[in-house]
Amino acid sequence: MLPFDYTKARNENDAMDRVRGSKAVFVAGGTTLIDLMKLNVMLPSALVDINSLPLDKIESLPDGSLRVGAMVRNSDLAHHELVVKHFPVLSQAILAGASPQLRNMATTGGNLMQRTRCYYFRDTAYACNKRQPGSGCAALEGFNRIHAVLGGSDQCIATHPSDMAVALVALDAVVHIKSAKGERKVAAGEFHLLPGSTPHLETVVEPGELITYVTIPSSKFAAQSAYVKLRDRASYEFALASAGAALEIQGNKIHAARVVLGGVATKPWRSTEAEHILTGATADEKTFHAAAEAAMKSAKAHKYNGFKIELAKRAITRALSSAAQQKAEA
Ligand code: SF4
Repeated sequence: MLPFDYTKARNENDAMDRVRGSKAVFVAGGTTLIDLMKLNVMLPSALVDINSLPLDKIESLPDGSLRVGAMVRNSDLAHHELVVKHFPVLSQAILAGASPQLRNMATTGGNLMQRTRCYYFRDTAYACNKRQPGSGCAALEGFNRIHAVLGGSDQCIATHPSDMAVALVALDAVVHIKSAKGERKVAAGEFHLLPGSTPHLETVVEPGELITYVTIPSSKFAAQSAYVKLRDRASYEFALASAGAALEIQGNKIHAARVVLGGVATKPWRSTEAEHILTGATADEKTFHAAAEAAMKSAKAHKYNGFKIELAKRAITRALSSAAQQKAEA
């Protein structure tokens, strides 16, 4: 780990001032950043501590949506009464991630910004276009068992690691970002970038910008939602394949659907192909299997990760079945 400066931000504007034009970065829970600094993968000149910013509230808005501060801890969000009741996919996704200790520290904003678990990204002995643009990708011809089968490029096939982000995309959440120029809103589904030829660019957040809130709208499918995560061990492990599903069912017909995948793609992966199959169809196992097939039709396996395609189909089918069994909210 290289030496770095450490300061505490007094308020949002002060936080943004302190990182502008420098190699300084924000630190919140530090659950990804500190690991990567110890590995010399991230080398910030300074850490600006934003833990004292008043962004730690979960608020119910008059229109039924939820406003979640960027500093809300993952544990608090997962166990919040309104989240458990009205947005179960989000509670389930967060509780499927990390460990209780990590969830007590990790924040909503930090979770959105977490970096890939690609072994080669985390080991400076290997070539990695994400860590060092233009250096190559050791995973393409290496041991790529945990890597992506959707959304990869000839520059990078690293999976996005967040469970929470998958649920936020399924719920049509919106990320609020502040900078010296003002505030902007980005749909959760557009927050993360595909690697393409620039895998070092992972999100739409630009230097000096601060995530302040995430808003989750009320919707007819939010309450009838579920998350399924398949992994090598039952806890404290990243997904090999996961699925967040949300359904609006009237009678036995599906009126609206969301299917989003984790662990198999380079970003939280919304499957419009699966949603197309589901919308207007009968809510049964046959439909769910057809949706899973459609979701993985364009998947591309590498030498060691072909099993993920079948695994993802099973995660989708189970998530849809589980969502269908949830009691719909009025
Ligand atoms: Fe780096 Fe991406 Fe290749 Fe992993 S898959 S080594 S993160 S470029």
